[in-house]
Amino acid sequence: MDRDLLRETLERRGEPRYRAGQVWAWLARGAGSYAEMTDLPATLRDALERELPLSTLELEREARASDGTVKALLRTARGNPVEAVLMRYRDGRRSLCLSSQSGCPLTCSFCATGRMRFAGNLSADEILDQALHFRRNGELDHAVFMGMGEPMMNLDAVLEACTLLPGLGITNRRTAISTVGWIPGIERLSASGLPIRLALSLHAPEDELRSALMPVNDRYPLAEVLDACRADHAIRRRTVFIEYVMLAGVNDRFEQAVALARLLSPREAFKVNLIPYNPTDSHLQGSGRDAIAGFRTALESRGVPVTVRLTRGREIAAACGQLAAGAAA
Ligand code: SF4
Repeated sequence: MDRDLLRETLERRGEPRYRAGQVWAWLARGAGSYAEMTDLPATLRDALERELPLSTLELEREARASDGTVKALLRTARGNPVEAVLMRYRDGRRSLCLSSQSGCPLTCSFCATGRMRFAGNLSADEILDQALHFRRNGELDHAVFMGMGEPMMNLDAVLEACTLLPGLGITNRRTAISTVGWIPGIERLSASGLPIRLALSLHAPEDELRSALMPVNDRYPLAEVLDACRADHAIRRRTVFIEYVMLAGVNDRFEQAVALARLLSPREAFKVNLIPYNPTDSHLQGSGRDAIAGFRTALESRGVPVTVRLTRGREIAAACGQLAAGAAA
């Protein structure tokens, strides 16, 4: 919903200011049309239906996996692709993976989005409309900014969206922003004092390999990024999640687990999340189960808390950028 346009439209029609709040409240509860907004006058509902699209995004296609994961490829008014994913878990959690940009200016070698054309930042409304798209089909409770783009490069819009997501059931405590280590953004998140979770995509325990996988590491090297994370933990007292995508023969060796464990101090500041790799068309392959289990044991035996992410939606190309890259091919 273009909230500025909504306010302008209501003002032009001489409607009281609280109408915008009424419309938003309906959207946040999952309304899929103005017709459902029964506390608005019927003439206003009809006028809005004619004049104001319910969403800033249009659905191009949706893919559904047998595990309940749904991935949507949406388009902005300018035709730029945006991906959003709904993941359902056995314990009932319904978690969204949201995009903050269309494409991404960074070029991580394992990522399909990094190989697409960068089309720019999304507005707060375009971020919220990803969530509202899925809200129309049920309740939501968690969100991660782990879709297309680097959220810390578009932090104003991301934080603006985060102020409204609680209305959809997604509190700040249940929201995570995942970054490749964009230090100015990490510092601003720390200063915001919001209880949003910080997740760092680390993926390699030393600079040379990390720079090869994620060129942003040349700008913000590992030691400085980890210092920013420690400072964030000291201020906001939230555990920083370390995301580590498991790549066969690249970053999954025992010595690399030992090196990673050495980096993560104090222990209580960090928790590692090992991510089985969703193969894209890059030359990289995911680590096997045994390699992931061994890496996990090496970390745990050194006192590092570890989880292994459940794989969701593999058969529908659920890794970030894969659906849009497929559509462009
Ligand atoms: S992993 Fe994230 S930061 Fe890196 S290219 Fe992909 S979207 Fe951009």
